[in-house]
Amino acid sequence: MEIYKNITGKTKVICLIGNPVEHSISPALHNTISKLLGMDLVYVTFRVEKNELETAIKGLRALNVIGFNVTVPYKKDVIKYLDNNSKSSLLMGAVNVVKNIDGRLYGYNTDADGFLRSFKEETGEGFSGKRVAMIGAGGAARAIAVKAAMDGAKEIHIINRTISKAEEIAEVVNNNIKKAVRFTGADDGTAADILNQSDIIINATSVGMYPNTEETPVTNFNGFRKGQIVYDVIYNPIKTKFLSDAEKSGCRIVNGLGMLFYQGIFAYEIWTGVKLPDALIKNLISELKNDFIGN
Ligand code: NDP
Repeated sequence: MEIYKNITGKTKVICLIGNPVEHSISPALHNTISKLLGMDLVYVTFRVEKNELETAIKGLRALNVIGFNVTVPYKKDVIKYLDNNSKSSLLMGAVNVVKNIDGRLYGYNTDADGFLRSFKEETGEGFSGKRVAMIGAGGAARAIAVKAAMDGAKEIHIINRTISKAEEIAEVVNNNIKKAVRFTGADDGTAADILNQSDIIINATSVGMYPNTEETPVTNFNGFRKGQIVYDVIYNPIKTKFLSDAEKSGCRIVNGLGMLFYQGIFAYEIWTGVKLPDALIKNLISELKNDFIGN
């Protein structure tokens, strides 16, 4: 590979830790950005076992990497091993980006920023004054709820299989940002009405993700309304059954690819301090989308 020829004794390393990591598109994303910007950086992945997380982080500090990404299942656990975490990452309960500044490790969350940027870019709208229904109450859902509330959502109604997790997110947002979140169990008969009456519907569960592409997060739901915005955090497949059903009803649909790309772009900006030019971002995203969709 061409990249190997350019690695020298001065090349800096950024990496991803998680388990598994082999499926990740982050190396393709970050190594492409470095190539386009002419930065002497290389991005690699490390699969880390649960009982080795602390050791791995100490090792990354000792090796003086400039930063790293954290993915499933360590986004929450990593927080306690860092020197400082951004206020929003603490509200989200998850860190996906770590920057090393003179041996001190700083945690950030760019998943939510990536979500908001892709949402605004692809729909031309924000959350201010909007009624939002979100299915799911895991890590992605919590980050999105915090961000949507910060962006001014009028109401965020969380629907989840495990109601206690939805309640936890409601407490965090209502006590720290604004009293906007309500919650309902997925088996509650009112879920369909809540979805139907919302301006924006978000699927933040993993239901419908490859290989279970025939599943949708709300079974037998056919109450989409024309003009609703329907966002699915899933990016494989790029059009889930949920999005396909919404599209047939005249909804505007957005998949999770933009969120994925932008969380990486924002991470890169944190690590390097380089603001990526809009034109470069546009080219990068269209190149990556072609690669992704082509696969
Ligand atoms: P978590 O494991 O933290 O949460 C999973 C959520 O899905 C929970 O709400 C869970 O419900 C729900 N769920 C899972 N299986 C079922 C099921 N069979 N029936 C009903 N509900 C179910 O995962 P994350 O929040 O980290 O990720 C969720 C999705 O978001 C994944 O598909 C992931 O790939 C995607 N993602 C996309 C990103 C992007 O950049 N586009 C970034 C991060 C995540 P319960 O609480 O009841 O278990």
